[in-house]
Amino acid sequence: MSRVAVVTGGTRGIGEAISVALKAAGYKVAASYAGNDEAAAKFKSETGIAVYKWDVSNYEACVAGLKQVEADLGPVEVLVNNAGITKDGMFHKMTAEQWYAVINTNLNSLFNMTRPVWDGMRERKFGRVICISSINGQKGQMGQVNYSAAKAGDIGFVKALAQEGARAGITVNAICPGYIATEMVKAINPEIVAKNILPQIPVGRLGEPHEIARAVLFLASDDAGFITGSTISANGGQHVV
Ligand code: NDP
Repeated sequence: MSRVAVVTGGTRGIGEAISVALKAAGYKVAASYAGNDEAAAKFKSETGIAVYKWDVSNYEACVAGLKQVEADLGPVEVLVNNAGITKDGMFHKMTAEQWYAVINTNLNSLFNMTRPVWDGMRERKFGRVICISSINGQKGQMGQVNYSAAKAGDIGFVKALAQEGARAGITVNAICPGYIATEMVKAINPEIVAKNILPQIPVGRLGEPHEIARAVLFLASDDAGFITGSTISANGGQHVV
């Protein structure tokens, strides 16, 4: 499989595992990142995967970045919208900066990244768009009104766009991870993880990034052509309450 795949936020955490899994399956992978040059350089030297720096919350930057990827690797056939951030806080203390940063990075990025590759996917009659949402977009999480709103928006994006892409051979799906052991979760106080988070997860542990990567790999494959507009929960049994 020598298709070209772009993974936003593909140099760390869940995105890193996705990039590595796609490369191992034979895809030509471009991993984008925002600004952590050190992590990106380490990732590039360890994996041999091409890295690209641009801000997914900036439409012009995405257009230019994708143009460069297509010049280097060829037309984008698989797009994994994975990049995301948190800026948590109770709503009564939330600033406009916290709100807009999370909406721009976690939701507006889906337009910014998908719109520039959409016409090409339609013309070639093949495409896979996979968006990494979150269990907190499904159920809502206090302290994360901005994040929950953006991640719920990702699911709406997928459901609507899947209908538009269906006749053109493009599938559009979301994966909603539960708690996965990445830096985003390691930033949470370990006592809170042990006392409050693990008891909510029936399998009794955090998920691993490669467990999300496997679901991405399946959705990217030709075998998954009948799955579109779907939301796959990967959360260790932590069901919506
Ligand atoms: P990490 O914080 O480990 O990695 C985030 C990646 O996204 C980095 O590569 C980062 O680049 C990149 N990134 C962040 N902002 C931007 C931006 N504006 N433009 C381009 N790239 C950006 O995150 P995770 O691996 O934990 O999360 C990946 C996705 O999964 C996110 O969408 C997250 O919301 C979602 N998710 C994660 C869960 C978890 O438990 N970890 C649970 C549910 C969903 P750089 O290295 O330059 O900072």
